[in-house]
Amino acid sequence: MEPRMGIYVHIPFCASKCGYCDFYSRAGCESDMPRYQQALIAHIRECVPRIEPAYIDTVYFGGGTPSYYGARRIAQVLDEIKSSGLLLRNAEITVEANPDSLTRGEARILRRAGVNRLSIGMQSANNDILKMIGRRHNFKQVEMAVRHARMEGFDNVSLDLIYGLPSQSAGDWAESLARALELHPEHLSCYGLKLEPGTPMYELKDSPLIPDDDLQADMYLAAVETLARYNYHQYEISNFCIPGYESRHNFKYWRLDDYLGFGPGAHSCVGRVRYSYVRDLDAYIQGVLQSGDMIDEYEQIGDFERGSEYLMLGMRTVWGITKEEYQHFYHNSFDELQRTLEEFRDSGWTVEENGRWHFTPEGFLLSNQLIGKLLEAQTARRAEQTPWIKPEVERQPRQTLPEKRKTIEELMLKEQG
Ligand code: SF4
Repeated sequence: MEPRMGIYVHIPFCASKCGYCDFYSRAGCESDMPRYQQALIAHIRECVPRIEPAYIDTVYFGGGTPSYYGARRIAQVLDEIKSSGLLLRNAEITVEANPDSLTRGEARILRRAGVNRLSIGMQSANNDILKMIGRRHNFKQVEMAVRHARMEGFDNVSLDLIYGLPSQSAGDWAESLARALELHPEHLSCYGLKLEPGTPMYELKDSPLIPDDDLQADMYLAAVETLARYNYHQYEISNFCIPGYESRHNFKYWRLDDYLGFGPGAHSCVGRVRYSYVRDLDAYIQGVLQSGDMIDEYEQIGDFERGSEYLMLGMRTVWGITKEEYQHFYHNSFDELQRTLEEFRDSGWTVEENGRWHFTPEGFLLSNQLIGKLLEAQTARRAEQTPWIKPEVERQPRQTLPEKRKTIEELMLKEQG
């Protein structure tokens, strides 16, 4: 079979900036859209035909707000990708949309252009919270956007939700989940709020308005438990779907598959090479149209880094990792990792099924710390083999783990109590 490749197209425009967002996008710059479209199409025309003999099996328009950029422009970009002759007929083609810019007419243009998956930014069902975090829509508009998508034939709709929002209670979060489920999405992403430096909401970092870690953990586990009850299976830390509706594009990131990114800030991964473009709209446009320098980061990945990436990304999914795959990426022993994974199993954080190790929901909750421990185990092994790096490795701080595990059952009892 010919190799497969994903395409990511970054749309760096938003109608306004949300208070928590650190994605690269510019607000209120509609006048730059025609120039950007010209650069994007020129860049795709130059690069995509060169991926042959690979075929494209996923295309993802992310942002920013692709629906604000406009369905006609998205369709035009998609036409350019199609004209390479490399886009497979059954490719998954996703567009991120915000409820305030997904009209029925826009949904129709997207569907007719071949888009077959919409990812809609709902975030919460609480209108006061939506306003507080700078979203431009209310929950009624979310319902309308989903209705428009359905009327135009979209049978693969994903909703994005955020927990841990300012002033959000466990009850609010449960209500958002319930309202989302009433819309029967095929896929749901539930992300914990991250307050990033440089964003307007960062100043709330120590505010009592932000739910504490325990409450956020409860919200996460409540989502896992509720969605399981409604037959959504969790296939990644933050992603849930009706079986068969996993995001094929996101899998490329987690499985270290190849993808090409276009647009400012977009990343690409081809074989062992990773690179990204500058997070600067003008520099990107100039780079494409006037052959300027627009590469931000470029690196070649060695075996050790491949092994680390395999651990970090594989353990984010419910398929987890295996000894054989690890040794395929990093030609080294799995023994240290096996021992660590077994210790995690004794704490209720991992399970092994048919040779695949993956986290339990309680393990997903601690995934940053647990993956940190796995990476330490891998590094310790490397230090044994290359003694001159040992002193440096030993100087590194060690990841600490909680002593007691928290189970869903314990949480449920706590709630009932
Ligand atoms: S709409 Fe999305 S990309 Fe734009 S500012 Fe809000 S969160 Fe960021």
